[in-house]
Amino acid sequence: RTVYVNGAYLPEAEASISVFDRGFLMADGVYEVVSVLGGKLLDYEGHMVRLQRSLSELAIQDPLADADYLAAFRELVARNEVTDGLVYLQVTRGNPGDRDFAYPPADTVPTVVMFTQSKPGLADAPAAKVGWSVVSIPDLRWGRRDIKTVQLLYPSMAKMEAKARGADDAWMVEEGRVTEGTSNNAYIVKDGRIVTRELSHDILHGITRAAVLRFAAEAQMAVEERAFTIAEAQDADEAFVTSASAFVMPVVRIDGTSIGSGTPGPVAARLREIYLEESLKTAV
Ligand code: PLP
Repeated sequence: RTVYVNGAYLPEAEASISVFDRGFLMADGVYEVVSVLGGKLLDYEGHMVRLQRSLSELAIQDPLADADYLAAFRELVARNEVTDGLVYLQVTRGNPGDRDFAYPPADTVPTVVMFTQSKPGLADAPAAKVGWSVVSIPDLRWGRRDIKTVQLLYPSMAKMEAKARGADDAWMVEEGRVTEGTSNNAYIVKDGRIVTRELSHDILHGITRAAVLRFAAEAQMAVEERAFTIAEAQDADEAFVTSASAFVMPVVRIDGTSIGSGTPGPVAARLREIYLEESLKTAV
């Protein structure tokens, strides 16, 4: 695989980062994951807008021009012959030359890393026909989950806990209400209404979420942006999650309780279809 590091395209075995990089020492960095279908980038603009916001919230200078990001994404997709898969982009505060809690001077050059993952048949994932089972787990992450930082240890622990309990993912719960999945936004459907937590510092502002809610509104589906409980989810007609890599993924069990019929529901199936169709139209 060819990877990108600070402007260079290198075989992955030859790419390296300083031990003093703030991303390595302090998880001081942000990332984006953009899916690739048929060699094209889905929701590319949205992901780049969120990258800018994450960087600006952490006062990391943006090292590249918009056109440089797109050129690098395309170059990597081409060099690695990715038809379906992902591009991962990470920007860290860079290497100040030593370890210190204070941010280094603003002219410290950020470290930019990009790589691809090939996932043939990504849009036809068999899991979408079966649906995921999820378990609930307390949300013990920090309070700025709207910034897409690389500090992902708690979501990793939650994922492991889910697997240990025989589930596909975890829904994190705070003050009795679901925040989101380990790497996706969470939804329920009750009496034809789609319910998903409102945007705040408590959740990541999903790019797929924004697109799906827009398509739902265009299709005259009712949407309510508010938090919900696990009990409410277990009593719902349907549940699902959204993310750049899972698109719209049905959820059929929560803490061992079947949702609705226990099979993927029609609203999730329709939204998945609309999302894939519409986002391919604007893919770059
Ligand atoms: N919530 C969390 C915590 C995530 O990590 C992600 C994606 O990685 C999402 C939601 C979904 O965001 P997006 O649709 O932009 O991929």
